[in-house]
Amino acid sequence: MLPWTSVPHPQLPGQGIPLRLHDTATGEIRPTAPGPTARMYVCGITPYDATHLGHAATYLAFDLVHRIWRDAGHDVHYVQNVTDIDDPLLERAARDQDDWVVLGMRETALFREDMESLRVLPPREFVGAVEAIGEIVELVAKLLASGAAYRADDAQHPDVYFDHRATGRFGYESGYDEQTMNRLSAERGGDPDRPGKRHPVDALLWRTARDGEPAWESELGAGRPGWHVECTAIALNRLGTTFDVQGGGSDLIFPHHEFSAAHGEALTGSHPFARHYSHTGMIGLDGEKMSKSKGNLVFVSRLRADDVDPMAVRLALLSGHYRDDRSWTNDLLEASTARLARWREAVSMPAGAPVGDVLERVRTHLADDLDTPRAIAALDAWAGETLNRRGRDTDAPRLIGSCVDALLGITL
Ligand code: ZN
Repeated sequence: MLPWTSVPHPQLPGQGIPLRLHDTATGEIRPTAPGPTARMYVCGITPYDATHLGHAATYLAFDLVHRIWRDAGHDVHYVQNVTDIDDPLLERAARDQDDWVVLGMRETALFREDMESLRVLPPREFVGAVEAIGEIVELVAKLLASGAAYRADDAQHPDVYFDHRATGRFGYESGYDEQTMNRLSAERGGDPDRPGKRHPVDALLWRTARDGEPAWESELGAGRPGWHVECTAIALNRLGTTFDVQGGGSDLIFPHHEFSAAHGEALTGSHPFARHYSHTGMIGLDGEKMSKSKGNLVFVSRLRADDVDPMAVRLALLSGHYRDDRSWTNDLLEASTARLARWREAVSMPAGAPVGDVLERVRTHLADDLDTPRAIAALDAWAGETLNRRGRDTDAPRLIGSCVDALLGITL
């Protein structure tokens, strides 16, 4: 698939700071230590609906990782998938009497527009599950041959499952106990009650063809891929083993990231699948959980249609810490719109408060597990002094504008 269009990314003076990031597997904030090319995989959308603010917050957090690495001099190999074949897409298409291919293409196109409007730097490779089916089949066939995968005991539908005990390390990424795993597996697309599996938690790798469902012919028999193995194949074949960051929302900690890691480790024998497993908090609406079942999703495209400045949306989502569950409110949007206007006024002044260590402070806070609230506070302080006409530094407005653009992705 074609990714969306990139935006200019100004070079800043001086040297960027190495990023420290929280890792779910160890529970620690640890340095990322990428080589000259930093390697990141972030799980993409299932395109059955428009991009809501929870998705946007996730891609903005990893956009900061991308920007901080680039500022520190790394080339960034960023891969993102699109789950353009899976149950939710087929269910929505059936409900709306829509064609699942058309639905997926339409929502993916809208997602690209949303990402462009929010100035998210595009991935280098943007890969749909459908276009990766050949590589997924190859991976599943190897897992079957090695004994890490098995056929369900079901003559009619001998689907392929992953034996979660295959690596001997299952659970290290999430740290969850068995009861929690079974519960989350049921809530998040798994099938713990399916008869014929060796263990309830085992995850689907290949679903054999069913009447009325799309299926692809393969050496595994006609069928379609499971979700976790899609990300394993796409990531491993482009980033290799032990890449730097595996990212997604906190609802992907289990089962999705636990299994995509276990599949990859069982296949290659290499551990860990990713050096950091990084997860973003959930975005609620007015203090309530935002979910499709509650019907209270706020879509980026809806805000754009209402003429909300995407830069205000971006600033609003970045004003909280990426790991915290937080709420979207009208007050937050209004405060962020006002802050954006203040920053814009300050950088349009002929001279500003001395830049001093503002750039250094913004870099330091962002490199400390993406501490956007403190980075934003440092910029607020500079804007406040500048608007009080305290400064005579004629370079400052331009430099602060570049800093906000390059590191926070916001054009002033
Ligand atoms: Zn994924």
